[in-house]
Amino acid sequence: MFQRTKSCSYQFKEVWTSPSITLSYWIDGYNWAKLNKEVIAVPNSNITKYYLPSEEEKTIKDKEIKRYENCRFHSFDTYKSVYFNMWCVYLANNAGEWRSATCTCPSFLKNYICKHIIGISIRLKYCKAPPEAENIAIGTKKREADHLKPKSFGHTIIFCY
Ligand SMILES: [Zn+2]
Repeated sequence: MFQRTKSCSYQFKEVWTSPSITLSYWIDGYNWAKLNKEVIAVPNSNITKYYLPSEEEKTIKDKEIKRYENCRFHSFDTYKSVYFNMWCVYLANNAGEWRSATCTCPSFLKNYICKHIIGISIRLKYCKAPPEAENIAIGTKKREADHLKPKSFGHTIIFCY
């Protein structure tokens, strides 16, 4: 039989293994899903790669995907025209892992979650937006929904010149 001789004084820190999703993201994701933009899926054994048109674009052509995958860049303008024309979401084929998806859009690179991941997961019925997100009318701007966000205490960066 084992006995503890000293009191345990471990301190555990909470570790997030998936991003927290604010109501604002749910609204954006839900609205994106309702746009029904054309999405091209390339399934693999465990993960499916989804090509999505960026904000202005409505569809993606096969030629653009080939260019995206094979293009070599000699200028930033060429890179920008190819890589900002569509986004790629890598989403597990297992519905329970949708929060660990990745996207190539700037929002994901900053916050580890974006409307594309949420929107595709809603379209695939991997997740469901909370009722309060669905009740807010389509077309609601993110700024209008920002007051619904929980308060957060971020870092303040002060630049000294
Ligand atoms: Zn994205």
